[in-house]
Amino acid sequence: MITRRDFLKKSGVAVAGLTVASVAGVNLTPVRAQASKIQLQVKKGKQVPAVCPYCAVGCGMISTEYEGKIINIEGNPDSPVNLGSLCPKGAAAFQLVENTERQTKVLYRAPHSEEWEEKPLDWAMKRVAERVKETRDQFFIERADGKTVNVAPAIASLGGSTMENEWNYIHQKLMRALGVVNMENQARI
Ligand code: SF4
Repeated sequence: MITRRDFLKKSGVAVAGLTVASVAGVNLTPVRAQASKIQLQVKKGKQVPAVCPYCAVGCGMISTEYEGKIINIEGNPDSPVNLGSLCPKGAAAFQLVENTERQTKVLYRAPHSEEWEEKPLDWAMKRVAERVKETRDQFFIERADGKTVNVAPAIASLGGSTMENEWNYIHQKLMRALGVVNMENQARI
């Protein structure tokens, strides 16, 4: 009997996608070459069960490693949580590992300047840390109405959807340690 997992392995979502695009008259030669390369590697690679890092649903994934690199991440059909499916965010989890579009520089506009300057990410991180320290030192409230409150009301933290569970956990710990009470996150954390 063919299992759901065998079926998914043999057919492949990529093949369906390529067929649709062929009908639409798109030139798929490079896409086909890339897809068949990945399919070959996935066959050779070592599959490791994993859990999606993005949200508390905890969908099961299969991460495929080949020659020391993760080359594919997809839903795990054996997981009772998601039965092989992933939401769009989880389906793009491979881009956490490999992403040629990843930004490694920031654009900075100094106060009163009209020009944007390109700065390295390390510079931006250091600058953010400096500003957090300055702001906290200036506005930190230790006591209010005769009670110890230890809050930093001049700082707010807004998390993004691509921050994963572990990052959010550590980030939230850091914010609470600083006395930040204004915290929000787009994702279902
Ligand atoms: S982000 Fe999507 S794929 Fe990941 S655990 Fe949540 S629902 Fe599942």
